[in-house]
Amino acid sequence: MASLITCPHCGVRPKEEFSIRGDASPVRPAPGAEFEAWDGYVHLRDNVRGVMHEHWQHTGGCRRWLVVERDTFTHDVHSVVDAADYSRSQAAKPAGATTAGKTVKSARPAKAATAAKPAKAATAVKPGTGRAKP
Ligand SMILES: [Zn+2]
Repeated sequence: MASLITCPHCGVRPKEEFSIRGDASPVRPAPGAEFEAWDGYVHLRDNVRGVMHEHWQHTGGCRRWLVVERDTFTHDVHSVVDAADYSRSQAAKPAGATTAGKTVKSARPAKAATAAKPAKAATAVKPGTGRAKP
């Protein structure tokens, strides 16, 4: 991982001054949103191998929340912006182009895969015992 992060407020700082929260792409659903929207927002995250945006807090400095564009494979940091600026830039995009829409779409296939598990498990159950084969 890159050992130096350029905070837009404090300048170049060691990575030890930062705390990582995780994926910055999920957008909080509206208070009255459907269960699936909240389930996806709270529980479902893509496991990206490559470039992604992450929330980092400069806990050892200005304490501001930042969005770090980082390659999870090479650990190269491509950009660091204030989270408020990132949020405004995401809100300015057309509705179909937001990362939130991307997250919801990617969550649906994962849920379909989960739904397929019981059928798969049923084939592994020993007839008459109700127990799974070892
Ligand atoms: Zn800072």
